[in-house]
Amino acid sequence: MAKVELKGIGKVYDGNVRAVDNANIIVEDREFVVFVGPSGCGKSTTLRMIAGLEDITEGELYIDGELMNDVPPKDRNIAMVFQNYALYPHMTVYDNMAFGLKIRKVDKAEIERRVREAARILDIEKLLDRKPKALSGGQRQRVAVGRAIVRNPKVFLFDEPLSNLDAKLRVQMRAEISDLHHRLNATMIYVTHDQVEAMTMGDKIVVMKDGKVQQIGSPLYLYNHPINKFVAGFIGSPPMNFLTVKIVEKGGKLVADEGSFEVTPTDEQAKALKAYIGKEVYFGIRPEDLTFTTSPVASNNMQMKISVIEPLGAETHLFLTTKTQSCVARCSPDNKYSIGETVNFTPLMEKGKFFDKDTELSICETPTTE
Ligand code: ADP
Repeated sequence: MAKVELKGIGKVYDGNVRAVDNANIIVEDREFVVFVGPSGCGKSTTLRMIAGLEDITEGELYIDGELMNDVPPKDRNIAMVFQNYALYPHMTVYDNMAFGLKIRKVDKAEIERRVREAARILDIEKLLDRKPKALSGGQRQRVAVGRAIVRNPKVFLFDEPLSNLDAKLRVQMRAEISDLHHRLNATMIYVTHDQVEAMTMGDKIVVMKDGKVQQIGSPLYLYNHPINKFVAGFIGSPPMNFLTVKIVEKGGKLVADEGSFEVTPTDEQAKALKAYIGKEVYFGIRPEDLTFTTSPVASNNMQMKISVIEPLGAETHLFLTTKTQSCVARCSPDNKYSIGETVNFTPLMEKGKFFDKDTELSICETPTTE
């Protein structure tokens, strides 16, 4: 069992740099939780506080209900895998994996058993006599993970472990770590700035920005119910489009006026948008929720010009411009498109989102944070 609980955790460096502010996060036993956000948002600091590598300025950290704030790192039963792997260059793979156990004075036969077992799990048995310099990036990464596995920790922490690998290897290692999570049945916390890694690996994602947790939820929950414009724009690729629109009343109905076209909110959206009549809001629509139509439709017709065409094979991304704004649509590669052409799109309004221009919070629904 290993449940990790952060209660009002905060970190202030050198008395004035606030890196983390009031983080409340629960990592359930055996869960794979990803902390994601842009560089400098405080994800590594949060992870390092869990590991005990940074002092906790405010709040409480519990592992299995036990207060950990003042427990030294070596007694937290946690293993961390770093971005740079931190392997000892002069030691063999075997010794790199055995080192932590030797220091802890684990019995020699037991060390041998654990190292061989970890090597088997990671398929690196043939590399045990090699030194790190004779390994590829992916193999070094596996050794770093192996060193964590032999410790049989309660919790695994990963700090951007794949960022030194090339794109193809990253995709492969991503799948390997997910597979390892299932096989070891362990609690894992994983830090990345890459939203694709977060979406594909996490049971639960914690989105952070400027030291603050923005929203916590499953990948698809965050995708479908972002709490604010930041989460909406961060999760998903290509990102959600945001068009500034003015909410106006027309013939007893609310419409969102872009300047070049109007779209009509659903009845439910209109209820919440009543408070915004005469004001500007952001209309958020994902690239896949814009449907291409060969001729203009009677309502909700977004007429735009094609500025860039990106054919990706399975789909084509069109970069579109209105008179003053731009957006991206994910389209079928079967249609013929040409640059400069005027085209028509219909937004799937029930998938559309509206965000307050000042607070950037979602207007029409109140998503949960977990
Ligand atoms: P992330 O992992 O999301 O990139 P970090 O947790 O590394 O972000 O950093 C969060 C903030 O704390 C940043 O503004 C960073 O500059 C600052 N910071 C990180 N480590 C230190 C440190 N040792 N001393 C002072 N400020 C730090």
